[in-house]
Amino acid sequence: MSIEPVIRISAIEHFTYCPRQCALIHCDGVWNDNEHTVRGVRAHRRVDSGEHRTERGRKVLRGVPLWSESLGLSGRADAVEIAGDQVWPVEYKAGVRHGDAADLQLCAQALCLEEMLEVNIPHGFVWYGKPKRRERIAFTSEIRNEVHRIIETIRHQLLTAKLPESVDDERCGQCQLLHHCLPGLSNSPRKITRYLEKTVFGCGT
Ligand code: SF4
Repeated sequence: MSIEPVIRISAIEHFTYCPRQCALIHCDGVWNDNEHTVRGVRAHRRVDSGEHRTERGRKVLRGVPLWSESLGLSGRADAVEIAGDQVWPVEYKAGVRHGDAADLQLCAQALCLEEMLEVNIPHGFVWYGKPKRRERIAFTSEIRNEVHRIIETIRHQLLTAKLPESVDDERCGQCQLLHHCLPGLSNSPRKITRYLEKTVFGCGT
């Protein structure tokens, strides 16, 4: 398996949300904040402080750099917790669960930690800010295989630099890249021409 280019762990969540969003961010370098990303940044303040502490008998390391040579993956865990000889990653989300995107991101963090520390990590946790509850995520062979598949697909996406078609569904209304992506137009050259004539050149009907 090729490990170039190296994939950011965050790309896994972007890809799971929408492959086009992943390509816009990680191929084209487009970024835009909306209410959801701003809320996420605020919720991550403590995590991003890099402050380590002991909580209920566990060591909690925050903002831990992660990488995997074998997968060509790099990023950061919001937190890594250590209790006795067990270690696991923790991902913090400001809102509520949206599908399995956070689970896959968390599993990718565990794969990095397993390689870095030469340990087996059977589970991790995602903490959701809206219910203020952490969910235990088991790293089954299915989720591990899915992470491998997504990494390879993202790598292919980066190498070919081909922008996937827009999903043009309910995800778009919540998407931080809505106004860069123009999902209602992107799958139709005729609509793009009409849009440009009307909004840019002011000559549409
Ligand atoms: S606006 Fe829709 S199609 Fe475009 S990147 Fe966002 S979710 Fe994907």
